Amino acid sequence: TTVFVSGATGFIAQHVVKSLLGKGYKVVGSVRSASKGDHLKGLLNSNDFSYEIVEDVEKVGAFDKALEAHPEVSVFLHTASPFHFKTSNPEKDLLNPAINGTKNALNAIQAHGKNVKRVVITSSYAAIATSTKEIDNTHTFTEKSWNEVTWEQATKDPVAGYRGSKTFAEKAAWEFLELQKPDFELAVVNPSFVFGPQAFDSEVKDSLNTSSEIINAILKNGPDADVPASKGGFVDVRDVAAAHIVAFEKKEAVNQRLILNAGRFAGQDILDILNESFPELKGKIPVGKPGIGPSITSTLAKVDNSKTIEILGFDLIGLKKTVVDSVKQILDSKK
Ligand code: NDP
Repeated sequence: TTVFVSGATGFIAQHVVKSLLGKGYKVVGSVRSASKGDHLKGLLNSNDFSYEIVEDVEKVGAFDKALEAHPEVSVFLHTASPFHFKTSNPEKDLLNPAINGTKNALNAIQAHGKNVKRVVITSSYAAIATSTKEIDNTHTFTEKSWNEVTWEQATKDPVAGYRGSKTFAEKAAWEFLELQKPDFELAVVNPSFVFGPQAFDSEVKDSLNTSSEIINAILKNGPDADVPASKGGFVDVRDVAAAHIVAFEKKEAVNQRLILNAGRFAGQDILDILNESFPELKGKIPVGKPGIGPSITSTLAKVDNSKTIEILGFDLIGLKKTVVDSVKQILDSKK
């Protein structure tokens, strides 16, 4: 079986590709340049991996050539989407690439992927949770919940822009399914903040992908920095990779949205784990107010993803392990 993975160089996608190869799948990854493709090929060190260049997922027909070249592809995992907040124009830099990238992928599959039977789209918890409800602890989100962010809100600031980009892109995928009635079946994964080690130690850089940088920044900002304001749900990247595979392997996942969320965290919880687990960080990172994390996360909405957990059939890695494994890799890389 050959699996196509868009955005193969990404933090999550590298784990997905590595897991697929480990399970005996052949993988075709899309990357933005030959140098990025060669770099990834070197890391993976496998003849079962090849790449196609898709410089920009937003361009009309972006995936057509890549799929034409690989009629053997029977599973398509669409992970490529911008995840950053460095923009003054969320419509141009976040919304349009996410939405058009998704439409281009699905159109290419429809036109050129005659053997594609299963498609998985990497959406986000951002497409599930409306921000005003996220801070209401009487509210419960489930796999049926949709972020009610409007286009107007999404064009106004980068955070709403990113959340809108994931919401509208996922909606476009389900609409495509309804209108085009394609031959393939769809499943969607909706991860909350993804933590955990990079797929390869050598991928640890000064600055990491947006979610990993939440933890990395603590190590860089010194003991007098503010306690990280981030709070929300988390999931380990290794579980996210495994879930992408379940999403196309299992019949039960067809037409489902899988909320990948192992629990809640506040910045203080991360500090507490680091201060307890890494004596060498004493005096180098903030202490904050140890133990108050739960009083912060208790103000957040509940997440009921029991349906997802049943479909996945495995236990999700907890906060301590995901944080410790992330930081251990970063500290080791500096030795
Ligand atoms: P990364 O930034 O590491 O990966 C994003 C990937 O998409 C990169 O390979 C990037 O290529 C590619 N990409 C972005 N924009 C374009 C474009 N216009 N054309 C072609 N390729 C593009 O982030 P993650 O691995 O964290 O994210 C992967 C997916 O998971 C995204 O869809 C994201 O929204 C989703 N997600 C992530 C979460 C997290 O906490 N990490 C949580 C929930 C969902 P390049 O680097 O070369 O620019």
